[in-house]
Amino acid sequence: MSDRAQYVIQGETGPWEIVLGLEVHAQVASEAKLFSGASTRFGAEPNENVSLVDAAMPGMLPVINRFCVEQAVRTGLGLNAEINLSSRFDRKNYFYPDLPQGYQISQFEHPIVGEGVIEVDVEPAHGDPAYSFPVRIERLHLEQDAGKSIHDMDPTATYVDLNRCGVALMEIVSRPDIRTPLEAAAYVKKLKAILVALGTCDGDMEKGNLRADVNVSVCRPGAYEKYRETGDFGHLGTRCEIKNMNSFRFIQAAIEYEARRQVEIIEDGGVVDQETRLFDPDKGQTRSMRSKEDAHDYRYFPDPDLLPLVLEEAFVDGLRAALPELPDQKRSRFKSQYGLSHYDAGVLTADAERAAFFEQVASGRDAKLAANWVSQELFGYLNRAELDLAQSPVSSTQLGGLIDLISSDVISGKIAKDVFQRMIDGEGEPIDIVEKHGLKQVTDTAAIEAIVQQVIDANPEQVAAVKDKPKTMGWFVGQVMKASGGKANPQAVNQILRARLGL
Ligand code: MN
Repeated sequence: MSDRAQYVIQGETGPWEIVLGLEVHAQVASEAKLFSGASTRFGAEPNENVSLVDAAMPGMLPVINRFCVEQAVRTGLGLNAEINLSSRFDRKNYFYPDLPQGYQISQFEHPIVGEGVIEVDVEPAHGDPAYSFPVRIERLHLEQDAGKSIHDMDPTATYVDLNRCGVALMEIVSRPDIRTPLEAAAYVKKLKAILVALGTCDGDMEKGNLRADVNVSVCRPGAYEKYRETGDFGHLGTRCEIKNMNSFRFIQAAIEYEARRQVEIIEDGGVVDQETRLFDPDKGQTRSMRSKEDAHDYRYFPDPDLLPLVLEEAFVDGLRAALPELPDQKRSRFKSQYGLSHYDAGVLTADAERAAFFEQVASGRDAKLAANWVSQELFGYLNRAELDLAQSPVSSTQLGGLIDLISSDVISGKIAKDVFQRMIDGEGEPIDIVEKHGLKQVTDTAAIEAIVQQVIDANPEQVAAVKDKPKTMGWFVGQVMKASGGKANPQAVNQILRARLGL
């Protein structure tokens, strides 16, 4: 896409570009774990949700959770990806105190979901144009989460909480199709919107239910295009992986820091080591965690406790037929059904609750007016006040009522902003506010004519001047509106003024 943003780092030896690929871990919205019946409830006491399977007691056998398999397939369908009817679980071997099995059950060679593609929407700051671009999905596989080591409860000991141990994760791996920090954040936002719409993951990043690992490398202009032509990763430079980021802001800050770090190393004549790094949000820096292991280091092999996962075509077709409306579909529908622009439809469909709120407000009303009031006024207010839609002081019914007052000329759009502020302040229903404060628009022509005449009589010089400069009529409109306390119907004012001034 030609209008896609460029991100160039000016080094001492010339310009550099960045290449980004993401691995997102999304916790399946399941009440039970992937291979045991233990609960996944958040906020439980440490080690409360640990079955004998999760604790890896000898002789315990994993049993696949059908619901989790369904959610992985549904997610794959939502990513426009190929569903592999035959997949397999493998053991990824490594030692960690919070992994009692000594291996993670994951999918290596044969993931449940193969290649897909999603459309990502970017809204740059500073008024640069919004754009969309495709990101290829390499795969989605199912795997278990590990437990948690707690290092800060005791100065001399580490505690282990196995509640997360065995919780189902979907790891979604993108191709290196992302080229700016903002695009990386936009990609995660779009993934989140798809997952939440499907209900396969709650998308709660603060709880760590959606977290991103970002692979960052830097290359010279032109190198990325060579990679796309040949498929040879050698053109892209050595990558570092920044693990486990759970905020859009951190993702962007980490990439910006990491790319500069790599440029400095290379320009100083050094070599970037392939490694796994952590982002420290307080310092705004990444630091080395471990040298990056290759797949063969994990000694993957098929888990002998689990049969290959074989799905029937009819099972997948049934899930496909029951998919809910996804963000891109909703956006297209909003454009055609409500006559909204691509951008406005995108703003209103980025979040399912906000989209539903808009549809309630727009129902039976002027959709463009509703879109304006919902996205500009209400969402603008909620963003400034840092409130969720659920905390909105104005309900969809109340906002709809306000729009009805505008459409039926009871109040002007300008007075409506005043009424809206009073609704936010908790003064109640819009019609009550209008009546209580006497805000009804004056549409009575006689009353407006009287005000117009007063203004004309009081300003003979302007009246003389307006014949040569018809544009100065705006000044009269302002005077009349002011004299009416903003309540005069603007169209009536214009009409009457035009007639009286002989324009
Ligand atoms: Mn993983």
